[in-house]
Amino acid sequence: MSVKLAVFGNPIEHSLSPVIHQHFAQQLGQDVEYSKILVEQSFKQAADEFFAQGGTGCNITIPCKLEAKEYATALTPKAQLAQAVNTLKVERDESGKIISVLGDNTDGFGLYTDLVRLNCPLENADVVILGAGGATRGIVPPLLHASTKINSVTIVNRTLEKAQEIAAAGQEYIEKMQLEAKANGTFDSLKWPTIQALSYAQLISHCYFAAPNHSPAYNVIINATSLSLHDQLPPAEDVLYSNAQFAYDLYYSHAGSTIFTQHAKSLGVKESYDGLGMLVSQAALSYELWFGVRPDITKTIEYMREYLKK
Ligand code: NDP
Repeated sequence: MSVKLAVFGNPIEHSLSPVIHQHFAQQLGQDVEYSKILVEQSFKQAADEFFAQGGTGCNITIPCKLEAKEYATALTPKAQLAQAVNTLKVERDESGKIISVLGDNTDGFGLYTDLVRLNCPLENADVVILGAGGATRGIVPPLLHASTKINSVTIVNRTLEKAQEIAAAGQEYIEKMQLEAKANGTFDSLKWPTIQALSYAQLISHCYFAAPNHSPAYNVIINATSLSLHDQLPPAEDVLYSNAQFAYDLYYSHAGSTIFTQHAKSLGVKESYDGLGMLVSQAALSYELWFGVRPDITKTIEYMREYLKK
């Protein structure tokens, strides 16, 4: 009998989740039925109906992630960190009655997983994130949580207040981790990243300030603006790229490159990638929650590139 999964959201027609999860299932020889469910009224009503029909788990996208958090009876640490849920898994007793609904969030950890897969040089790195929208809100806590190797995180945004809000939440999170580390005696053995928010004008003066010493200003540049969609570059001067080794665009294309990754390459950044790996990685983390096994991400990325070409 096939395992019933689905993605809930509004709009939902554009979602690539069914294609990605069917490819995972095919790789692992599992029988999966994965559908798209448009949430027109309440998420709870739609989810109740789906689970009453035997659903095992689901993904949740905009605008239902907070309702999904309320729906869960328990949250993983990743969901607690994000305060939002993008994956649910139900546990049933022998009679099929639901005994618990576990809520997880794989959104932000998808980026971290992909950076690790791509050997991103995070050790002692000064990371700059351009953009402070929903995606940045999701990726900052996992970056701070999963990599205490990072030296600093700088968030740059056209609307500075949004970057400041995310940086303040990140700072709070660092302080929480520090308190825990003090309590368990690991504080001195760990490295603690700093976090700050800048406007684009401030960013450029930071870069020029660093340039005379030839000290690396930013090693890793992440484009989390929505500008690649419109074939536009973030409004940062080229000096930003002068010492970078790694550039990553959250936006993705069938070609594997974007205007941002091409620009970074043309300025000498050795490694530059689009965000398809992040998309597939976050799906793989959901799949792992449901089935206890993580699919091969690389195979599915290759498959999705071909799929996007069509
Ligand atoms: P949001 O709409 O929430 O945020 C957009 C960001 O882009 C804001 O920081 C905004 O700045 C900035 N921006 C837009 N126009 C301009 C401009 N003209 N000049 C300067 N900055 C600008 O989008 P998301 O955060 O949800 O998504 C961001 C990108 O990440 C998208 O390309 C999306 O496709 C991609 N993404 C990829 C995922 C993946 O799995 N690979 C997952 C999620 C997102 P301001 O705040 O000033 O408006």
